[in-house]
Amino acid sequence: MHFELTILGSNGAIPAYDRHPTSHFLNYNGDGFLLDCGEGTQMQMARYNIKRGRLDHIFITHLHGDHFFGLMGLITSFNLNYREHTLHIHGPKGIEEIVRAHFTYAQTQLRYPIEFHIVTDDRPQVVYENSQLTVESIILRHRIPTTGYLFREKPGQRKILPEKIALHEIPVSEIGKIKQGADYTMPDGSVIANHDLTTDPAPARSYAFCTDTVYTETFLDQIQGVSVLYHEATFVNMHRERAAETMHSTTTEAATIALKANAGKLIVGHYSARYEDLAPLLAECKEVFTNTELAIEGQSYII
Ligand SMILES: [Zn+2]
Ligand SMILES: [Zn+2]
Repeated sequence: MHFELTILGSNGAIPAYDRHPTSHFLNYNGDGFLLDCGEGTQMQMARYNIKRGRLDHIFITHLHGDHFFGLMGLITSFNLNYREHTLHIHGPKGIEEIVRAHFTYAQTQLRYPIEFHIVTDDRPQVVYENSQLTVESIILRHRIPTTGYLFREKPGQRKILPEKIALHEIPVSEIGKIKQGADYTMPDGSVIANHDLTTDPAPARSYAFCTDTVYTETFLDQIQGVSVLYHEATFVNMHRERAAETMHSTTTEAATIALKANAGKLIVGHYSARYEDLAPLLAECKEVFTNTELAIEGQSYII
């Protein structure tokens, strides 16, 4: 299954140096998921050939403008492009009122339904699920209620060893059960253990999206072993006081979370507009967690 992240917006609150406010696009086997929708997201989607029609679910972390000011434009373009199928918006209390007020005063009747799914910030929970993925909220600590999101692939089926199936002349009708882990009973009553007929499925992959937050370990257990962790790193260590004041994280804090979570890879972003050169941020992260990459707009990362 294809599981790919594309960065659409990598900067913090103020756009700078052609870097845009936060937005990430996940492609899971052709299904599109948008994580935050900062100003300019739809332009970034066009720039990087992300098809709007493939997008049915948008997840908003919190109601600071740099994470949702792009919603009105995107929703309007869907409307002008004759979208008919439902758009699902997952986000904090207040998101529905904000969006509906806009279209009420614009006297715009949308051609397609929007369903809002309110995500609370009191405890982590499964906020969306389909046959292949679950999405859980992650409770973050910021100036207003904020939740990250954890995309987890469901465990795949066991892989059949075709030569063993042929050897024991196992009928096709039994294959489905064997893929799910069942042993096989031969016509003479003897049992062939499942592990003699199959191998383990590929490990389930996961992506955690953690923005905006101060350093907090409250969600470490939840994201333990995550394949790819995105964690905001708004400031370099020298500006740690500013990070604390604004309830953001530093490079070292983001990298420490990745280290303690045993993440496969760390991607950092939400850069302060004061930094044109991002190399120092990357260097500080790598001192703690080697497998760190900068979020670069237009760049894709295979999960
Ligand atoms: Zn922000
Ligand atoms: Zn914020």
